Amino acid sequence: MTPKTKKLISLDKKYLWHPFTQMKEWEESTPLVIERGKGNYLIDTDGRRYLDGVSSLWVTVHGHRKKEIDSAIKKQLNKIAHTTLLGLGSTPSIELAERLVAVAPRGLDKVFYSDNGSTAVEIALKMAFQYWEQTNKKNRKRKFAAFTGAYHGDTFGSMSVGEIDIFVKKYRPLLFDTFRAPYPYCYRCPVGKEKKDCKTACLEVFENILKDRHEEIAGCVIEPLFEGAAGMIASPPGFLKAVRRLTRKYDVLLIADEVATGFGRTGSMFACDSEGVVPDFLCLAKGLTGGYMPLAATLTTEKVYRAFLGSYDEYKSFFHGHTYTGNPLGCAAAIANLEIFRKENVLERLKGKVALFKTLLEKFESLDHAGEVRHTGLVAGVELVADKNTKEPYPPAQRLGHRVCMEARKYGLIIRPLGDTVVIMPPLSIKETELKKIVNITYDCVKRITL
Ligand SMILES: *Cc1c(COP(=O)(O)O)cnc(C)c1O
Repeated sequence: MTPKTKKLISLDKKYLWHPFTQMKEWEESTPLVIERGKGNYLIDTDGRRYLDGVSSLWVTVHGHRKKEIDSAIKKQLNKIAHTTLLGLGSTPSIELAERLVAVAPRGLDKVFYSDNGSTAVEIALKMAFQYWEQTNKKNRKRKFAAFTGAYHGDTFGSMSVGEIDIFVKKYRPLLFDTFRAPYPYCYRCPVGKEKKDCKTACLEVFENILKDRHEEIAGCVIEPLFEGAAGMIASPPGFLKAVRRLTRKYDVLLIADEVATGFGRTGSMFACDSEGVVPDFLCLAKGLTGGYMPLAATLTTEKVYRAFLGSYDEYKSFFHGHTYTGNPLGCAAAIANLEIFRKENVLERLKGKVALFKTLLEKFESLDHAGEVRHTGLVAGVELVADKNTKEPYPPAQRLGHRVCMEARKYGLIIRPLGDTVVIMPPLSIKETELKKIVNITYDCVKRITL
């Protein structure tokens, strides 16, 4: 370790508090300090190179130091770094909105900007709530429906619709009540079915909630196709489409949280596209700028937008906005991101990689402690279990998932687990040889650590 690295680590431990991190464990560890990136690699302060196996927390799309995005930001920087959208327009925010509407599911015509995934969801919740307040004289639609295992962010609204106990349980007394429907986590079925005898048990429960309580439900939030933070839980084909059909039937607004699934991650531009679903709200963040800048967008319909129009003193405005809303540097990066999708035919070229990934992942099945291997597009989760027959998890204190990821670093791969689910989520720009390397290293590390 160079003296410079040593110094940085000691200052980090002295001054920083890291997110989602047990700092006692961190203080006792030897953390990596990343200094640079290039393509699908991260480079630390000692010059060591690592494959970026989780896209720098699910955000990097076309790789690091992508020429077109670098230069789009520099070009914008030569004009202006920030100007507000409160009372003023700005060139890149306008150009990006037009492009987002063009690629989004048809019918989502209005773009509201913010700066992270939690706020993108928070905004959709507030808009949905206010929509019913302003369109329904005897409004009782003041609650939300969401799914088991959901993760929608760390602010109070997004925590209220979320359901990962270790993240939200402590705050429950401060959160609003949410109707909870089962997400089809078929490996550990939330309604006690065996996969082979289940048609749509989760949907039946969901429909019953809507049937009984739709007059109280403003909107329903879902992570389409897979639940990310819960462990990359892939829902069966048709589930999302059925949720859309039922929310329509019972007049409940559908909020698609595509913060993780958006921008090619599942194989199509948006997860909703793969089932021909048009939600009432589409929440975007993570990959929106190609993984460069904190920017988010909540898209909605003309119908929702219209409910907020009126004379000023009716106070129907959406009184919400963050200081850096629609930041021009972020918007410039996002425009370049979308342009690369078009120019480089990214979605078309992704098909081969997704197919290869699926094949490569098959070898995990043979491992004694790989309980389930889940795959959607360019995302995989390998759930490690102490006993494959009984599906018994490892005791959390054993930190199995964490240990696998630490081991992978020795072989030049950065990955990060979700509990004992080992996640592989490389940038869309990953090369086939790199993908093979990522899967092989992960496989070897799982095998060694679970021995
Ligand atoms: C990451 C994530 C969020 C929260 O985004 P932040 O930018 O971290 O606030 C919300 N929803 C989903 C599905 C996510 O994966």
